[in-house]
Amino acid sequence: MYDYLIVGAGFAGSVLAERLAKDSNKKVLIIDRRNHIGGNAYDFYNEAGILIHKYGPHIFHTNSAEVFEYLSRFTAWRPYEHRVLASVAGKLLPIPINLDTVNWLYGRDFTSEELEQYFEEIKEPVQNVRTSEDVVVSQVGRDLYEKFFRGYTRKQWGMDPSELDKLVTSRIPTRTNRDDRYFTDEFQYMPLHGYTRMFENVLDHPNIHIALNTSYAEIKKYVGFKNLVFTGPVDEYFDYCYGKLPYRSLQFVHETLDTPLLQPVAVVNYPNDHEYTRITEYKHLTGQQHANKTSITYEYPSWEGDPYYPVPKPENATLYQKYKLLTETLPNVHFVGRLGTYRYYNMDQVVAQALTLYGKLANRKSLKEAIDTRIEKKHVTSPGIYVPSTISVAAAPEA
Ligand code: FAD
Ligand code: UDP
Repeated sequence: MYDYLIVGAGFAGSVLAERLAKDSNKKVLIIDRRNHIGGNAYDFYNEAGILIHKYGPHIFHTNSAEVFEYLSRFTAWRPYEHRVLASVAGKLLPIPINLDTVNWLYGRDFTSEELEQYFEEIKEPVQNVRTSEDVVVSQVGRDLYEKFFRGYTRKQWGMDPSELDKLVTSRIPTRTNRDDRYFTDEFQYMPLHGYTRMFENVLDHPNIHIALNTSYAEIKKYVGFKNLVFTGPVDEYFDYCYGKLPYRSLQFVHETLDTPLLQPVAVVNYPNDHEYTRITEYKHLTGQQHANKTSITYEYPSWEGDPYYPVPKPENATLYQKYKLLTETLPNVHFVGRLGTYRYYNMDQVVAQALTLYGKLANRKSLKEAIDTRIEKKHVTSPGIYVPSTISVAAAPEA
């Protein structure tokens, strides 16, 4: 009999397993239908000995000191600031759009102030910014929207940006300075030895049992558990009783080339050419040295395959709300993660969401308290009575 069965060994499931096992002394079984831990962040050394991400590029970035501090217990880090170029009009230009993007695209020599003025002139007035098209045309106008966003978004999501919620393209800022970083978060790092190694450390605890190649449908008949954490697709859990929630998928084509380096940055986006959206070259992300080979991944969007992206549009949000009401009828089942809560979340947001759920389960008031490991710090005072070490060892009564 386990205290918790956790379905899915990605960030959501693994963080909860660690907290419940280590901090609350619960017996946990974590399962995944894949043959590895780490969920979509799984990485591995390929046949050339190069560390690659099986499910496309994963770059860690966060503004949450708690999330960063928590994950730092399980990995050392490599400082890494992500830069992306977009192949547009025969040039490789910085994306997010910045001062250099516009100057190099149009052969201009704007200053930041002039570019702000230029955007004022070309942006389209939108009364109520609702869609992913609205977001971009209301900031940089139609030409830049069509060159950098429309084609990419149509490929990536299989629909026009005008059909997608504004949150999708709002992920990409517009800048009038020369900052060409993809993210501006306070903490931007890659796990020094990779994500999989980090997950091994997260799950390394005697209270945690791991079963891979195991789906919830098959194991639920054979194993006893008091509580369930479900990080798979929420509609799957309820047998699609209200219909399927759409998830966008990707086909990843991995290649190793006989050249030391292919492209100037880790990711090059192709908004207007090819069926793939982007090419990732891992050596830039990991800093790995390899004299004469490099490994890359092409991403081909598709409706077939594993569910990767919840599709942010109003009717899907409405359908999700119906499932959410069902989840609220099950007090011992907890839905969390990108698929479990149908949210287009980054890794750090999923970690924060999992820690918040743990805080609720363990009666902690804040994220800071949720990452405080109490069992380890406790001192026995008399049989059955524990005093947290935050009271300090000297003040604690003798055992
Ligand atoms: P997942 O990682 O999807 O884990 C869920 C696990 O549950 C899976 O391993 C699945 O096999 C298992 N599972 C599901 N159903 C069942 C079942 N019924 N039985 C057993 N097992 C089941 N985020 C960033 O912060 N930075 C990035 O650069 C970034 N890049 C990304 C690139 C791509 C191509 C994608 C797709 C995502 C990217 N993300 C990135 C987002 C990141 O992958 C997610 O935020 C994170 O992996 C979500 O973790 P999770 O635990 O919720 O879900
Ligand atoms: N996007 C785009 N052109 C780009 C980069 C992004 O149109 O060159 C849009 C596209 O709709 C994409 C969204 O912005 O899905 C968010 O981009 P992000 O890089 O955050 O996507 P992810 O890494 O999650 O796939």
